[in-house]
Amino acid sequence: MALTGLDIYKKLPQKNCGECGIPTCLAFAMKLVAGQAQLDACPYVSEEAKTELTEASAPPIRLVTIGVGDKALKIGEEAVLFRHEKTFYHQPGLAVLVDDGMDKAKIDEKFAQLKNSQFERVGQFLRADLVAVKSSSNDSTKFTELVKGAVETGFPLVLITDNPEMMKAALSVCAQTKPLIYAANESNFEQMTAFAKESNCPLAVVAKDLSMLSDLVEKVTAKGIKDIVLDPGSRNIRDSLRDATFIRRAALKKKYKPLGYPIITFPCEMYDDPYMEAVAAGVGIMKYAGVIVVSDLEPWKAFPLYVLRQNIYTDPQKPMQVDEGIYPVGEPDENSPVLLTTNFSLTYFTVSGEVEASKIPSWICIMDVEGLSVLTAWAAGKFIPENIGPFMKRCGITDKVKHRKMVIPGYVAQISGELEEELPDWEIQVGPREAGDIPSYLKNWSA
Ligand code: SF4
Repeated sequence: MALTGLDIYKKLPQKNCGECGIPTCLAFAMKLVAGQAQLDACPYVSEEAKTELTEASAPPIRLVTIGVGDKALKIGEEAVLFRHEKTFYHQPGLAVLVDDGMDKAKIDEKFAQLKNSQFERVGQFLRADLVAVKSSSNDSTKFTELVKGAVETGFPLVLITDNPEMMKAALSVCAQTKPLIYAANESNFEQMTAFAKESNCPLAVVAKDLSMLSDLVEKVTAKGIKDIVLDPGSRNIRDSLRDATFIRRAALKKKYKPLGYPIITFPCEMYDDPYMEAVAAGVGIMKYAGVIVVSDLEPWKAFPLYVLRQNIYTDPQKPMQVDEGIYPVGEPDENSPVLLTTNFSLTYFTVSGEVEASKIPSWICIMDVEGLSVLTAWAAGKFIPENIGPFMKRCGITDKVKHRKMVIPGYVAQISGELEEELPDWEIQVGPREAGDIPSYLKNWSA
């Protein structure tokens, strides 16, 4: 936000009436700066001040939505250069390319890949986000037919042609799905801009370099287009990384409006080598793409890219965690093993996966340690006998099992003696250090 709290305060009505839910206008201004209040909470702001403040408080990188409904992809609205400064908010969409020059079998294979390249990891569903539909045939009928098929997949679309007539025909069968129109260039921007305006769809703008790109964006915005995605034209990792970094810095540090939009990159056009393409896509995930178009998402490529994206876009200040409680794996009974661990998501899902693999029905007691892993929680004084004792009493595990044997993670073997003092009815057993050893450990366990 370009304005300070005091700048905003000067533009507020200064009635201190409290109707916004905050006692004074100054406090309200401070909340606005911190992003903890909305300007429309004040019923007395003048229209003139509203316009000025809305403009000044607009995010430096615009939020752009591609598609409609549950699968709509939101990109942009990032506020920092580095993830550790705060967090990255809107993860980039991975788009699988289909081309009207491909034969039907190939196209069907790609559509199937979109649906099948899905994984669950630490409780989150990881998948592709878009279909990028390109025309290399320059045949409007072929392109439109392919677009119709892509609409049926239910994924948001990127329409790729620089031919205005073909774009018009494609939009006639899919404008209601709000595809990304790719792309307005120096020679077609008048028509592409008109289509984007008419259909209310986001518009990608492409140029050969950043200077030409920002000039073209200014022409497009002058025609009333707001939802823009930038393609700086770079087609190798080095140039793409350079341009994306420049764009992000210009938007955040200089508040340079013509580059304040999300970016689209094309690893599919950078390299024939599929491994290099995957590397280029990975670089796009880290720095700073909004849409990444790849030639395919075979599982070997999809999984690492999804996991990289999940890691980069997880809020570093909020560890992913599961709720405290008792989690049954399989159908455990009163004689089943009881394992104790922490509520860090990765820990829970790794342990439960290994318990499941052992095929020994078990109870996993998950203790809330604010989402920390076992060793970190122990080092932070949270996963310690004084806290574990009360947790075991309140969690209700004593109603589930007849025996009193509890398996603790091998990494905190040192607390077993103290824990037995806290829980004199329980026998504390030290489990393996590595989750991968849980199946063999449980197979030899007896109540
Ligand atoms: S409602 Fe408006 S005028 Fe009243 S205290 Fe809040 S900001 Fe000030």
